[in-house]
Amino acid sequence: MTKNQKSEELKRILIVGNGGRENSIAWALSKNQSIEQIYVCPGNGGTANFKKCICLKPSSEDEATIIKECHRLQINLIIIGPEVPLSEGLANKMREAGLTVFGPGKEGAQLEASKDWSKSLMVENNIPTAKYWSAGSQEEALQILKRFNQPLVVKADGLAAGKGVIVCETIEQSKEAIREVFSGKFGAAGHKVVLEEKIEGPEVSIFALCDGEKLIILPPAQDHKRLLEGDTGPNTGGMGAYAPALLINQKDLQDLTELVLIPTLKGLKKKKIKYIGVIYAGLMLTSSGPKVIEFNCRFGDPECQALMPLMGEEFASVLYACARGELENAPKLTFSNECSACIVAASKGYPERPQKGDKITINVESNSSLQIFHAGTTIDEFDNIITSGGRVLSLVAQGKNFDKAFDLAYSNLEKINFEGMHYRRDIGYQVRNI
Ligand code: AMP
Repeated sequence: MTKNQKSEELKRILIVGNGGRENSIAWALSKNQSIEQIYVCPGNGGTANFKKCICLKPSSEDEATIIKECHRLQINLIIIGPEVPLSEGLANKMREAGLTVFGPGKEGAQLEASKDWSKSLMVENNIPTAKYWSAGSQEEALQILKRFNQPLVVKADGLAAGKGVIVCETIEQSKEAIREVFSGKFGAAGHKVVLEEKIEGPEVSIFALCDGEKLIILPPAQDHKRLLEGDTGPNTGGMGAYAPALLINQKDLQDLTELVLIPTLKGLKKKKIKYIGVIYAGLMLTSSGPKVIEFNCRFGDPECQALMPLMGEEFASVLYACARGELENAPKLTFSNECSACIVAASKGYPERPQKGDKITINVESNSSLQIFHAGTTIDEFDNIITSGGRVLSLVAQGKNFDKAFDLAYSNLEKINFEGMHYRRDIGYQVRNI
């Protein structure tokens, strides 16, 4: 990093991605008075609803154009939202071009992009996780299954858009899942498989913002992956979330930081990886203690949408300090002490075959305790907002307690409509009086 860069004030930010996560990050950053402009690349139908936020054309695959645009627009900070560009090395290329980026390089992104890699990092650093075995072929995987003679959880090694994990109840299901992974269903992600012992317990997600050396911890969150009420039906990208998760208190969070997050960052450093970005640890609280079930190398979606309204105005400065490797100079990140609830509204046919192109009617506006974060939306030539993806938007609300937050979110969700719109009515059941 040059001297010149060090003295730059944070004024112009570019966020890579087009989902609800990126929409909520843009909203949170726009609260910072000194920021002049936030570009979201390519953004969605809700990007321009927030002051100072605009869409920028190139898609995240068009790396050379994005980098050129960052120079032309004198972007001070780039935040890469999704895992795919991170795992493909967009942050590396941007840093090589002299840009300041929040998001790990390709090496660090393996934390999420290879389950085998992240499991061995956990084992090397004594981070508690379920026992596992890796296999590079179907025969090898079936052999392992035979040897253990119990149902194992089957995970495609690589990125599979949240669909590569099959939790099996019987040995037969595990066999079927192994065949499925090696059938090519998950493309390159299924060239290798991780078989895991099945563990049980409530799940919670914890997050650290890292500058390569140090980290700070965000409030924990809990999401709902299943499509239907009662946590049933197929897995989805996430149908809702809430924060802070009450399952763990401040002391637990501190213990988990020491047990999981600090050793992870140390493990990365041992591999000479300067990890700048989010470490997201998905945990299961088992009867024999907490265990990591997955790492992500970015904010979760929809956990991010629940978390962003809790961030103090310093959030932008903290991300900037992380990206520059100088978290020690960042202002203290404050958090609202309210409860935040996020409900995802999905389109007809989601997750199997989401219907697109339906007009969305929105009779509610975002304010300081209620936010509409767009995800699968776009604007047509007549300025109508239309659906363009499975998870269309989320309604997020804050209140003194979770009952108030969820009541506010659900009552306003009724003011939004599109053909086939559906959502779960029991999001946050763990913390509500329902
Ligand atoms: P992942 O994509 O790794 O988060 O896995 C998706 C879901 O599968 C998790 O949220 C858990 O509910 C479940 N899961 C993953 N690993 C295990 C495991 N070893 N035992 C039981 N359930 C698991």
